[in-house]
Amino acid sequence: MTRSIPLGTANEFIGRHIGPREADIARMLERLGFDSLDALSDSVIPASIKGTSVLDLPAGLGEAEALDTLKAIAARNQPFTSYIGQGYYGCHTPSPILRNLLENPAWYTAYTPYQPEISQGRLEALLNFQTLISDLTGLPVANASLLDEATAAAEAMTFCKRLAKNKASNAFFASRHCHAQTLAVLRTRAEPLGIEVVVGDESALDDASRYFGALLQYPATDGDIQDHRALIARLHEAGALVAVAADLLALTLLTPPGEFDADVALGTAQRFGVPLGFGGPHAAYFATRDAYKRDMPGRLVGLSIDRHGKPALRLAMQTREQHIRREKATSNICTAQVLLANIASMFAVYHGPAGLVRIAERIHRLTAILAAGLAQLGLKAEQAHFFDTLTLATGARTATLHERARAQRINLREIDGERLGISLDETTTPAQVEALWALFADGQAAPAFDALAASAESRLPAALSRESAFLTHPVFNRYHSETELMRYLRKLADKDLALDRSMIPLGSCTMKLNAASEMIPITWREFGALHPFVPAEQSQGYAQLTEELEALLCACTGYDAVSLQPNAGSQGEYAGLLAIRAYHHSRGDTQRDICLIPASAHGTNPATASMAGMRVVVTACDSRGNVDIDDLRAKAEEHKERLAALMITYPSTHGVFEEGIREICAIVHDNGGQVYIDGANMNAMVGLCAPGKFGGDVSHLNLHKTFCIPHGGGGPGVGPIGVKAHLAPFLPGHAGLERKDGAVCAAPYGSASILPITWMYIRMMGGEGLKRASQLAILNANYIARRLEEHYPILYTGGNGLVAHECILDLRPLKDSSGITVDDVAKRLIDFGFHAPTMSFPVAGTLMIEPTESESREELDRFVDAMIRIREEIRAVESGELDKQDNPLKNAPHTAAELVGEWRHGYGREQAVYPTASLLEAKYWPPVGRVDNVYGDRNLVCACPPIEAYQDA
Ligand SMILES: *Cc1c(COP(=O)(O)O)cnc(C)c1O
Repeated sequence: MTRSIPLGTANEFIGRHIGPREADIARMLERLGFDSLDALSDSVIPASIKGTSVLDLPAGLGEAEALDTLKAIAARNQPFTSYIGQGYYGCHTPSPILRNLLENPAWYTAYTPYQPEISQGRLEALLNFQTLISDLTGLPVANASLLDEATAAAEAMTFCKRLAKNKASNAFFASRHCHAQTLAVLRTRAEPLGIEVVVGDESALDDASRYFGALLQYPATDGDIQDHRALIARLHEAGALVAVAADLLALTLLTPPGEFDADVALGTAQRFGVPLGFGGPHAAYFATRDAYKRDMPGRLVGLSIDRHGKPALRLAMQTREQHIRREKATSNICTAQVLLANIASMFAVYHGPAGLVRIAERIHRLTAILAAGLAQLGLKAEQAHFFDTLTLATGARTATLHERARAQRINLREIDGERLGISLDETTTPAQVEALWALFADGQAAPAFDALAASAESRLPAALSRESAFLTHPVFNRYHSETELMRYLRKLADKDLALDRSMIPLGSCTMKLNAASEMIPITWREFGALHPFVPAEQSQGYAQLTEELEALLCACTGYDAVSLQPNAGSQGEYAGLLAIRAYHHSRGDTQRDICLIPASAHGTNPATASMAGMRVVVTACDSRGNVDIDDLRAKAEEHKERLAALMITYPSTHGVFEEGIREICAIVHDNGGQVYIDGANMNAMVGLCAPGKFGGDVSHLNLHKTFCIPHGGGGPGVGPIGVKAHLAPFLPGHAGLERKDGAVCAAPYGSASILPITWMYIRMMGGEGLKRASQLAILNANYIARRLEEHYPILYTGGNGLVAHECILDLRPLKDSSGITVDDVAKRLIDFGFHAPTMSFPVAGTLMIEPTESESREELDRFVDAMIRIREEIRAVESGELDKQDNPLKNAPHTAAELVGEWRHGYGREQAVYPTASLLEAKYWPPVGRVDNVYGDRNLVCACPPIEAYQDA
């Protein structure tokens, strides 16, 4: 007898990803006056663009099935042992860091630490990172990460341009000993700015006065270690600045750049515990002199004090968001690599200075032994001095050697037809050194490891041996047992609010679920252990993953081609504008350099336009928050001859679907321009309308917003761009891709190892699930807006009274009536256990709320109830019942420490810390009171202060 089992549909994931249950959805719709989700989204999406999305995707897979499918794809990658080096090295991610940090939602679901009171944990981890970098490079100021070594080098180039004394020069010298991918990105970045990159041998540099700056690599890409002192002195004399790309591990043994007068040190922190991941994500670092700190790209963590005078960390003002300065910004970087910087910083915390030296010395000794054995075999390394990398002149045998190596699952570096390279790393063993010898032995007797180990001497140059101490701060000398490290990580995580504790209603940032099933594959060895420059046949799994993902993203956006290379939204914007620029140039329209940008745009847009060599013309918005179409038309026509592009965010940063978007796109096209649609708000559109179908020529997506990559506390991100077919030839290239030039990132697929997150999300949701997610994002936002509108005016709505996937509360009238500011409300929300919404963007004095589809009705209600309670408190201030200065809003957030001892406020302790009864059950306690921004900027401290500073305070 056969038994029939009722199977039902296997996909449980859509319901797991989406917060509200069916019954909640029905009630919420009813409250808004709609009888179905389709009726709601039909009413929100303007008629002119409705139906532009045909999300023709296969049905969603269940979680287990999706993981199995991806596992089969991953299995097509072949993780060989790679000795390729070139800026990427094998390393061990310490297991307690893997488990308690990288795989821990308390760390990976956090947002960029703009709200310092709820971010002290990750701010401390980042301060440790800055201290690590500053100590190792010998330069006093280091930032909290950049995107990769190559883009950090490009930032250094423009940094030198701004600051060098030699103002007349437009030429930047780059050593031919720099990594090839770094030189490629430098060339891309230099071209639109009119900078000439001169690649040459520094030993032959005799016209120093020709340059405003120079980039050197230390140790060189081929392994050599040069003494740059005389050269740097000469360049300085000629008015140029010098940046040195340095290997952090080598710096534990070598004189740091700061001690030989370099102005900037930069590089990657990858080998401090971060998997290769086929090229990323990894944290880059950037350090400089104290005098230049205000010009530094990226974010800088600094020490300040809180309301009680106690030390508290925060992002230092001048650098906190360079792009806020719009087209005058020095860099467009926004999302950086915080999670990866924190892994690197904890790697140093766990190993300590002695442990790092041990790792570096072991690598160097093995390399010296390898070199001695190869010499015995008649193969002398080209370098007299080296750290971990050898270049070997293998002549006619080269191709055979590569073949023989690959047969043993080993990759050597391909330099040219006559030479190859070998870089050892933390994971290399003596047995592997012997296996390398065997490759080159050709019938000769194998060298004896022990004998060579006994006699091999250091091959570091004696004149450049490191004398100065580093990482002497207690934080790098205490947490060396696993128990201590585990508790340190727990202690820091407990100081912070991330998505694992409560909703983060940050408008424009889309803080949605980062599902565990999406996250699991990123630590699979098949994805993690691949060097970015392995031969294509070893990365077939990645080839399939990226091809499929490109197709899925084309389906989601209506574009014809996608590049996954940009490793943040800002980089996507840049790649998109370069594609537009190259397209105009290909048609002989080299004069097109005007970029129209509405006043409401995100700061990265104008910052990017100026990096791409364009001139920004700002267009106005009307009183309803829409682009002022008449003004736009007038400016497009005025600049008709030179119009390059419009950058517009859709739905707008004001949280509405503008009716006029098609007309706006047509005006730009009619005047010869291209339309860049900033896709940061794609979470309102997937499955409902498609930018590639209603007028966009190119868009970036933030995979760390709409497509579930976690924010990581401020990175990693991925910012792929989709383009219409006519722009496809101008997508970013790479030595490892079909188009060779125009790289915007160090690795061909940017942050490849986190792409599985987005693949999993799209494959599990399927077309239907994705559309439902957009509808729920809209429902949740409108539900909040409807519940709050009688308490706080909603600044902008569409003609139908509805918002898109986010809403803006106008707090400006309250400031007039009560003196309470957005800041006060944001800080008071902390007492209720919430992260603040986005403050004063895009309109000063407002809060922008984006709940996302992942939040349940209960969580939305909890948030709304908190906001209503806060409104009641504001009323009490208005009526005089609460003092204008001494009230729970102005004094927020309240710490546990201030509850003990004398209580001198005109309101009670209960109201301060338990304003609602539900908090008795679960309460978040901020570790510090409100942080003083002005003090921190006046007294900038951006490395770990001596422990006494905390004790004194
Ligand atoms: C987040 C955001 C960006 C920048 O993206 P990053 O990934 O942080 O570089 C650009 N535009 C808008 C509208 C955004 O919300």
